[in-house]
Amino acid sequence: MEKRIIRDLFLGFMKVHLLHHAAQEAIYGTQMIEELGRHGYEVGPGTLYPVLHYMEKQGLLQSYERVVEGKVRRYYTATEAGKRLLREARKRAKELVDEIWEVEEGGKL
Ligand SMILES: [Zn+2]
Repeated sequence: MEKRIIRDLFLGFMKVHLLHHAAQEAIYGTQMIEELGRHGYEVGPGTLYPVLHYMEKQGLLQSYERVVEGKVRRYYTATEAGKRLLREARKRAKELVDEIWEVEEGGKL
């Protein structure tokens, strides 16, 4: 499948993923590139950082900088609005998963 189609489709999944982790602990870019990679999402800094910035602009994430081993690292945590959206996304994701797996198990796919 074309890379762009895959990216478009899974961008929302990625954002939910980021919210999920940022709601639990402070996250940072390279850590999330690794984490998303573990889940099969091939994202580089050129994709991930703009997404993090955009989500911060939308008020879903907030960030702060900390110097780690002599380098400035930006950490992100979920805001209250981000956590609310995550709860909603969780409900919808479950509904979607239940529905598409039902078809799968019925053997129509
Ligand atoms: Zn994860």
